[in-house]
Amino acid sequence: MDAIVQLTDVSKVYNDGRQFAALDDISIALRPGEAAAIMGPSGSGKSTLLNLIGGLDRPTRGTVTVDGANLGRLSEGGLARFRRQRVGIVFQFFNLLNNLTALDNVLIPAQLAGAHGNQARRRAEELLERLGVAALRNSYPARLSGGERQRVAIARALINNPPLLLADEPTGALDTHNGDEVMAIFADLNRSGQTIVLVTHDERLARANATRVLQLVDGAIAVDRGDSTLGVVQAK
Ligand code: ADP
Ligand code: MG
Repeated sequence: MDAIVQLTDVSKVYNDGRQFAALDDISIALRPGEAAAIMGPSGSGKSTLLNLIGGLDRPTRGTVTVDGANLGRLSEGGLARFRRQRVGIVFQFFNLLNNLTALDNVLIPAQLAGAHGNQARRRAEELLERLGVAALRNSYPARLSGGERQRVAIARALINNPPLLLADEPTGALDTHNGDEVMAIFADLNRSGQTIVLVTHDERLARANATRVLQLVDGAIAVDRGDSTLGVVQAK
């Protein structure tokens, strides 16, 4: 099957006075349906990698292809469209807008994509229901717990039905219980067919939920566990 994410000879050099290769010539292919965990020490390039896949940044060298789109060929406008329609992104600190209710936060990407009002609202409510926070639809983020905020943020990431869901340390700001619950949501979404790439520090959560584990060290892939042409979960 064609890869949904293909990085070929990708490097990212940050240029703030000194040249620093945050990613050094990496190649990765992820298949549709995978739940890939990106692990590695702080500063190893995990967020840089996720940002390149999500079209939030461009590589210095190499090509990034996601869901058939060669991101290097897209204009800034094309890349913005790609980010709205092809990927959903979840962050460690939720990034919800505090002056909007949970429901209105979820609706933002739909509105930006020009979705029909009633239809988008119905989908937003379905997602909040599925994520167990429907009763909080009219609450503002300040009234929600961290776990509840992250559920709302996941709903927002899914509102436009993106083929790829990305998450950067989505349990990093949560206690163990809420972290486990949020990770169970990702596992459940993956079982329903959602392709997921998620950065995590948590070896235990990665082992329990990922079908593929990529370990970054100093901007290079040190370990790629679960890379098989069938995409099956490896026995532990
Ligand atoms: P991780 O998410 O694994 O902690 P990052 O991808 O955030 O790692 O960062 C990898 C390396 O690149 C780090 O050394 C970091 O300091 C550096 N870096 C990240 N973003 C920038 C930037 N915008 N400018 C300069 N250096 C950066
Ligand atoms: Mg990071």
